[in-house]
Amino acid sequence: MNEFQDKTIKCVDCGEEFTFTAGEQAFYQEKGFTNEPKRCKACRDKKKAQREETRRD
Ligand SMILES: [Zn+2]
Repeated sequence: MNEFQDKTIKCVDCGEEFTFTAGEQAFYQEKGFTNEPKRCKACRDKKKAQREETRRD
């Protein structure tokens, strides 16, 4: 079993650094996601909100 460590990643959208936590890394691996997140939570939430906005019509 892998030991995960918190990792700092720079958001591609806003340039802010955010933490990809050990718990999230374990979750990603469990789900079979091979890509690390590229955006901080704020930008992901914004993207998600935009998607929901465009889906409206
Ligand atoms: Zn961001």
